[in-house]
Amino acid sequence: MKIIIHGGFFSESNQSHEVKVAKQDSLKAIAKKSYDFLQNNSAFDTVAYAVSLLEDDDLYNAGIGSQIQSDGIIRMSAAIMDGETQKMSGVINIQNVKNPIFVAKELMKEDDRVLGGNGAKKYANENGFGDFSTEIPQRRKEYEEKLKTGGKGTVGAVALDKHGKLAVATSTGGKGFEIPGRISDSATVAGNYANQFCAVSCTGVGEDIVSNATSAKIVTRVTDGLTIENAFDRTFEELKEIDGFAGAIGIDSEGNVFHQDSYPTMVFASFDGVDFEVFG
Ligand code: ASP
Repeated sequence: MKIIIHGGFFSESNQSHEVKVAKQDSLKAIAKKSYDFLQNNSAFDTVAYAVSLLEDDDLYNAGIGSQIQSDGIIRMSAAIMDGETQKMSGVINIQNVKNPIFVAKELMKEDDRVLGGNGAKKYANENGFGDFSTEIPQRRKEYEEKLKTGGKGTVGAVALDKHGKLAVATSTGGKGFEIPGRISDSATVAGNYANQFCAVSCTGVGEDIVSNATSAKIVTRVTDGLTIENAFDRTFEELKEIDGFAGAIGIDSEGNVFHQDSYPTMVFASFDGVDFEVFG
């Protein structure tokens, strides 16, 4: 059993040492809690649980604490993929729900599994997800000052359960200040992808991640026989060609856990029941 989670990027120039330590502590605690959950639950249920904990923590740009778009509205995107069934479901630009990842998970039972905008919100309300504002004063202040935080804070989780099954989930408030209608990578196969061989979640500039098809490429390369390390390396080499800004976390079916970023520092933590690895 393995778990790795990310909380986007940390920027030394824009964020304080206190924020860094707070993120290290929170990621460690969430990785541990999620690993405990994984003991009795599937990888699929665990990645949704882990991402919901990250969404509930306002340190990250997903769920509570999401960035505000150029028109003053928060629109969130999230997706989940089960490596076993190779099915993905997601929501794109949903407003006013507490945990977009749980709406994404709910959609797994539908034929129409990726919903956007008002349709996603309507579906959420009809399926028991009440209205909830994920805005926090700090983000409003940043929005009003027209300042970007610099630290991208999408969240993600990849897990391998005791039956050897993989799953991935990713959730974001987007880049901040985007044109309304902009689509993030997080609910696409570029930002969130899994099969029986590998599962990968990304953070960074969505346009770069989509252009590079990052998660889908890494997973495909592992499927075709590359080691997870080589699959990450080759994909990040290609990302360099477009000066892409991204970070990714992944686990393969053998339990090898890997992460890489093109611009330091991606905020991540992993736990295997004995040892933690936390970004420094
Ligand atoms: N990938 C996200 C997006 O472009 C942003 C992030 O990772 O913080 O919407």
